[in-house]
Amino acid sequence: MTFASSPLLPDGPTREDLVRCVRCGLCLSACPTYQLLGLETDSPRGRIHLMRAVSEGRLPLSEGVVLHLDRCLGCRACEPICPSAVPFGRMLEAMRAVIARQHPTPGWRGRLERFAFRAVLPSRRVVGLLVALLRFAEASGLRRLLRPWLPPALRPLEALAPVQLAPPYHPQPFLPALGPERGQVLFFLGCVMPALFGEVHRASEELLRRAGFAVITPPAQTCCGALMAHAGQRELARALARRNLAALAGDAPIIVNAAGCGAMLKEYGELLADDPHLTAAARQVASRVQDISEFLAAVGLPQPLGPVPVTVTYQDACHLAHAQRIRREPRALLQQVPGLQLVELPASDRCCGSAGIYNLTHPLLAAELLERKVDDILTTGASLVAVGNPGCLLQLQAGLRQRKVPLRAVHPVSLLVEACRRGADLTATSP
Ligand code: SF4
Ligand code: SF4
Repeated sequence: MTFASSPLLPDGPTREDLVRCVRCGLCLSACPTYQLLGLETDSPRGRIHLMRAVSEGRLPLSEGVVLHLDRCLGCRACEPICPSAVPFGRMLEAMRAVIARQHPTPGWRGRLERFAFRAVLPSRRVVGLLVALLRFAEASGLRRLLRPWLPPALRPLEALAPVQLAPPYHPQPFLPALGPERGQVLFFLGCVMPALFGEVHRASEELLRRAGFAVITPPAQTCCGALMAHAGQRELARALARRNLAALAGDAPIIVNAAGCGAMLKEYGELLADDPHLTAAARQVASRVQDISEFLAAVGLPQPLGPVPVTVTYQDACHLAHAQRIRREPRALLQQVPGLQLVELPASDRCCGSAGIYNLTHPLLAAELLERKVDDILTTGASLVAVGNPGCLLQLQAGLRQRKVPLRAVHPVSLLVEACRRGADLTATSP
């Protein structure tokens, strides 16, 4: 079946997608921006109505319409609850591509976005250099000195930057399984994970190897393109997807530990649906992508596991829970750790306000969502909050830091690898 965009909006949302909405309103209660603003135009149903009216030529794509679509988090909490299976994320990305052409982001924000999308994120070296500068500014005290002089527009970015950075991570093209080999996997790096969360990559590799898998990290891979696609820069996202298709060719599972990257890679078939030469390859790559929690839950955690006596709560990253529909596996893995008490977080699948670069483009709304999230985390009595996505980790770490509470945000693999190491130590020291 082919899906046609409106002739008024080539590359915009298709009519087939737009007419799926039956206006039942079931999605309203799941939508964080509707909860915050109470406006129909800031709800999923209202936004679909706006998109349809624009695509049928009944409404101009005015700045007011753009504002309501721009305020959407792209969290996709409206998708699982929808009885008509409206693919809201797909429609939003298509509409944002139209907006990016007709209303390019003006001023400093537009320049910063273009620089980040074209020159920074596609290059692990450039991201690594910027993070090395951040590391130096933090260690030398320069960051604290410069903070009051930063222009207001850059303050949310500075507040988000972590204060404690793990040692730099250097990917290895091949790491053998630890013990008898059960198979091989390809490891996906992402753009910011290696520089900002190197310890999460090291933990992921170790878990996979201890589980009996050799880890291959193709050096030619690049950023998945998710942030570009969410911002309507689909051609930039497609260019990155083409590079990744070549780098990730083969049959082995592709393991991802960042929810946003996993969701994007799994949708490469849709992203490249108009490229007849690459559609089959894109679908083949997408079908091999697995979040690390999905993979480990299927193959089993390395045994034995040692005790990690800590109380943990779990935040569902939007692109894991809503886009990939993975909720059970991370919880099931954490519950296997002896001594670890998992406490359910109220509204664990409500967005924390990170949402790609939303905390930079809509700092007030993002701050309100973060405030509510930290309030909910504090009710659990946990000392750690686990979440499987770098943007959410940064956002939650910043929120907990600002509230000066002794809680930390960690990736679930950091807890799982600790349990494996302690289990291995127990085995080594047992008579
Ligand atoms: S739940 Fe689905 S069908 Fe109902 S209003 Fe929301 S998007 Fe439309
Ligand atoms: S993607 Fe999230 S913010 Fe946007 S309409 Fe759906 S639920 Fe609301």
